[in-house]
Amino acid sequence: MANLIEVVYFVAVALFIFGLKRMSSPRTAKDGIIWAGVGMVAATLVTFFIPDLKNFGLMIAAIIIGSGIAFVSGKRVAMTDMPQMIALYNGMGGGAAAAIAAVELIKLATHETAVHGQVAINLAVLGALIGTISFSGSLIAFAKLQGWLRKAIRFPFQQAFNLLVFAGTIGSGVYLAFAGAEVSVIILFFLLALIFGVLMTVPIGGADMPVVISLYNALTGLAVAFEGFVLNNAAMIIAGTVVGAAGTLLTQLMAKAMNRPISNVLFGSFGAAGGGEESAVEGSLKPIEASDAAVMMAFAEKVIIIPGYGMAVAQAQHKIWELSKHLIENGVDVKFAIHPVAGRMPGHMNVLLAEAGVPYDRIFDLDEINEEFDTADVALVIGANDVVNPVARSNPDSPIYGMPILNADHAKNAIIIKRGQGAGFSGVENALFYADNARMLYGDGQEMASQLIQGTKEL
Ligand code: NDP
Repeated sequence: MANLIEVVYFVAVALFIFGLKRMSSPRTAKDGIIWAGVGMVAATLVTFFIPDLKNFGLMIAAIIIGSGIAFVSGKRVAMTDMPQMIALYNGMGGGAAAAIAAVELIKLATHETAVHGQVAINLAVLGALIGTISFSGSLIAFAKLQGWLRKAIRFPFQQAFNLLVFAGTIGSGVYLAFAGAEVSVIILFFLLALIFGVLMTVPIGGADMPVVISLYNALTGLAVAFEGFVLNNAAMIIAGTVVGAAGTLLTQLMAKAMNRPISNVLFGSFGAAGGGEESAVEGSLKPIEASDAAVMMAFAEKVIIIPGYGMAVAQAQHKIWELSKHLIENGVDVKFAIHPVAGRMPGHMNVLLAEAGVPYDRIFDLDEINEEFDTADVALVIGANDVVNPVARSNPDSPIYGMPILNADHAKNAIIIKRGQGAGFSGVENALFYADNARMLYGDGQEMASQLIQGTKEL
């Protein structure tokens, strides 16, 4: 039976990896998720056949409650709330890994046979540390994405305090690993790790959240892999390592996109880079009517469209592509420029544009297209804000200083679609909106896109 269980675990892992591969393209992503899901069901079912397993009732109850909540919330969640849902699920993964470690360490403290050997104990503690930090940190990330925690929280001597808590966490972890597990130290260790996860995340500014979220994703994977060693579970080891590796790559990509060294997020200023006051932006906001904006675009040679989070909120991608097709039919060169952190999750805009049927050869990354703004007649910014804020280039005191942005301000004209004067996710005022060549087209993204279509049709 033990061999059969191992075989099923390996098949499950193969299905995870196959599913992950399919998820790398929007065309095959849906069935990728199904393949990975089949792997997960197989791994879960076969676990019930592990010899000497107890607590079947509790396991089944947990699975029913967990699946029930996940099914209902997964069905109900709005597409725009997906990022916070992912942060929450990611936190649950870290928390589950930490819970496994807690059980094993308590068994050790109460002299029930549990973790065998020093290496396994060390790994249990390491997994517990990483998983717990990822759990509480992800919950804070969830609160930030949900809009419950809008400001980055900073207080005097924050870094010293954080370091102290971190040192306490490591100290109690080392004690547990080498001097023997005691229930009081176990409780202290988990409490400190929980607090550290919170402390590490609360000072991070909105714009830096992509780095943090992908970092927690990587940490959760690692924690699961470590606990896989403790439980001798091949599926957990391999799946955790895959998630850890993918998350690490994503963290690097996101850090590159934000132009922040990862060490800054990990050990440094906890995202506090340039946390000073921003200077007020100059100029005035100049509104434009949709009919006038339509004329500007219809008579342009080149239009570059920059989608952002607001396009996702408005679900305006289909209308924007319809507008683009009209312009293309009239001989306008239309391109889409995607910032790596636009929206609220990696690849957010690519997914929306793919859903609307925008051909891939019209979609360009920041590096590929940024030079072209100099020759563009119109940059149409729809629901994007932080990713086009020139303050990131010009104001060293701004929290987003140093982040590469799309050069919408270099186009001859910038038309910005947004509902009002709301700031971007970072809360930083946008200098582009006040520039001489910028015009504000106020309204919901979908409604404004419809009016632009109408305007171009009437010409
Ligand atoms: P922003 O969040 O900076 O700005 C979105 C803008 O959309 C707002 O200014 C808002 O203005 C406007 N908006 C909202 N709803 C609508 C609507 N229905 N119609 C039209 N406009 C609307 O978006 P960006 O994409 O520019 O930047 C993403 C930000 O999120 C960055 O700071 C990034 O770091 C962060 N982030 C990204 C993650 C990722 O992985 N991609 C993850 C976590 C955070 P108004 O209210 O006036 O309409």
